[in-house]
Amino acid sequence: MMENADPKVLALFKDSDALLQGHFKLTSGKHSEWYFEKIRLIENPAALEKLIDLLVAKIKAEGLDFEYVVSPAYGAIAIGFLAALKLDKKFAFTQRVDEKMTFRAGFSGIDGARAVIVEDILTTGGSIAEVVECLKLRGIAVAGIFVLVDRTGGDVKIEGRPVGSLMALKVQAFEPEGCPFCREGKPLAKPGASDKKV
Ligand SMILES: [Zn+2]
Repeated sequence: MMENADPKVLALFKDSDALLQGHFKLTSGKHSEWYFEKIRLIENPAALEKLIDLLVAKIKAEGLDFEYVVSPAYGAIAIGFLAALKLDKKFAFTQRVDEKMTFRAGFSGIDGARAVIVEDILTTGGSIAEVVECLKLRGIAVAGIFVLVDRTGGDVKIEGRPVGSLMALKVQAFEPEGCPFCREGKPLAKPGASDKKV
């Protein structure tokens, strides 16, 4: 299931306990060998910082021109903030208010700037597309989009842009009837702490 999985990156995710291997029931009802518990990233700052260092190196290598790092609340705030600090850029976050992605009123200096969007996990690209819309409304140009994990395996482009990631992977999910782990009699776990399931 791993494409473009650098062993060093993979080890860091495993060290943070964010990437679990086993037999999991997903919210879709399907079963999978892998589960992403992204809250563990925030819970393990030392491991997260190592991942952010790698992401920052990737962003720097692109030679992009931007003044801000922008991340959507809440999970990605710590990631984007630390990336901005290491990149010597400003930071802002977007949040949903009445279902609509928006900036807090206080981020007034960002209008007309150029921004790199940093998100933790790209699942469908939906929330990043909302951030892009939010930036456009403020006249902010998107210089780049980066995530720690691209769960689409690199398939999703946002407004024609590729998304930079530390790890691009596609997780195979099985209907219970066809699940090889059920057939092996492996105990099924139902993780539930995260708001986004693999
Ligand atoms: Zn199963």
